[in-house]
Amino acid sequence: MTDKITVGGVSVDTRHWIGGERVASTDTFTDVSPIDGSTIGEISRGTATEAAAAVTAAKAAFPAWAATSRTERARILHAIADGVEKRLEELAIVETTDNGALLRSHRRGVMPRVAHNFRFFADWLLKLDHEDFETRGHTNHVSWDPAGPCVLITPWNAPLMLATWKVAPALAAGNTVVLKPAEWSPLTASLLADIAAEAGLPAGVLNVVQGYGSEIGDALTSHPDVRRISFTGSVPTARRITESAAANLTPLSLELGGKSPLLVFADADLDLAVDLAVEQYDNAGQVCLAATRFLVEESVAEEFTRRFVERASGLKQGDPRDEATDIGPTIHPRQLEKIDGFVQRAVAAGARAVIGGHREGSQYYAPTLLTGVAQDSEIVQEEVFGPVLTLQTFPTEEEAVRLANDTRFGLAATVATGDPERAERVTAQLVAGTVWVNCFFIRDLRAPFGGARQSGVGREGGNWSFDFYCDVKNTVTAPKGWQDH
Ligand code: NAD
Repeated sequence: MTDKITVGGVSVDTRHWIGGERVASTDTFTDVSPIDGSTIGEISRGTATEAAAAVTAAKAAFPAWAATSRTERARILHAIADGVEKRLEELAIVETTDNGALLRSHRRGVMPRVAHNFRFFADWLLKLDHEDFETRGHTNHVSWDPAGPCVLITPWNAPLMLATWKVAPALAAGNTVVLKPAEWSPLTASLLADIAAEAGLPAGVLNVVQGYGSEIGDALTSHPDVRRISFTGSVPTARRITESAAANLTPLSLELGGKSPLLVFADADLDLAVDLAVEQYDNAGQVCLAATRFLVEESVAEEFTRRFVERASGLKQGDPRDEATDIGPTIHPRQLEKIDGFVQRAVAAGARAVIGGHREGSQYYAPTLLTGVAQDSEIVQEEVFGPVLTLQTFPTEEEAVRLANDTRFGLAATVATGDPERAERVTAQLVAGTVWVNCFFIRDLRAPFGGARQSGVGREGGNWSFDFYCDVKNTVTAPKGWQDH
């Protein structure tokens, strides 16, 4: 195994980052590019030993980092953001090679947001205030104390973006962290370790361990010195982590999957509705928030479908490094297999593929729209995590809301309507962490983000992140002169 590999001209360390040092495992796993299935390199395959070493390093670094002034912590977070901006192009090309999402999105949207994540939580930290109030002459002083070492576990669909939603507030709050990126997209976390070190983050404050969740996960999530676990990923893994964390009652934040609806009412601007619908193929549908269930009012369903098919047929699928590409590959042949399984079972059960419904070679899945699907069918109820959308119709607003809420998820919902009163009525009834009205994917870090039902536990963003990463303490002090009594 070589310690460093070159990816798109960028040197990436393949080892863990523990206590400010690069540490290799004896074993490795192969990182493969979804663009063409080619091998990127061999990455250190962590075990319980490296997991324990990383938590130990995080624990050792915690007291000094927690005691570092807020101003200094904020300064270092801004320096990390500077480093991200300086290496933006490198991060973009490495991420695209590793997870297959569009290079143009990484350049213009995702990596600038990564830098913003650090700036936002650095600034928020300085605004976070202590609260004081009085009870019968006694002072209540509410403070936000850092919790301790945090384990952060992230998925492959937006690796650095989702990791930094966690890393930035955890560090800002004064915690130390162990980041475990997904084994299908391990590279940018390694670059983040370099950037953080260059920005002056002390050794052990950020640790990165690589490897399979099934092999290294339990050692991290059941560790008694871990004070918080923040996880973004699938529901089955969330169950495993919840069981593992139960031993120490470690507080959990869980950002999970979804089966979000797009409700299109007859009074909607249909062109806008179609724009919103086509956006659901972004990142080849590998987006937790994707509105994968189109619910369209009967009277406009035919016209909506016609316009959607016309637009979707014009999308260019191919190499995500090409600026003209709209839809890239699927992360892994195993995921492709899973997606196709969902579609073939749906078709066997009576669904019709209006477009797509098949693979395009060994890495890509054709953008697909299925009609003739039953509400209780697998394709309507389960997350596919690929470019596969379903369309159902509804006769009334009441039925639209019923269908929208009728899954075990509740991550997001999108409503297209021209009637503000209807928008208010419908959004009030939707079970979802985020509802967009005549828009999609607007995400302000001040706002809470998370899911209802099995889409998650807890919220990220603004004070919600600090609430999670801190032990909030109330100190009650007796009135002056108490010692005279
Ligand atoms: P996954 O659950 O398979 O893996 C996520 C992470 O968990 C990986 O790092 C993996 O190595 C790790 N892991 C696996 N087993 C583990 C264990 N036993 N203990 C600890 N860690 C373990 O999910 P995925 O396939 O990488 O990601 C796709 C899923 O993530 C989808 O369901 C998607 O909806 C969800 N997601 C949710 C959000 C959100 O914000 N709600 C965002 C993106 C993705």
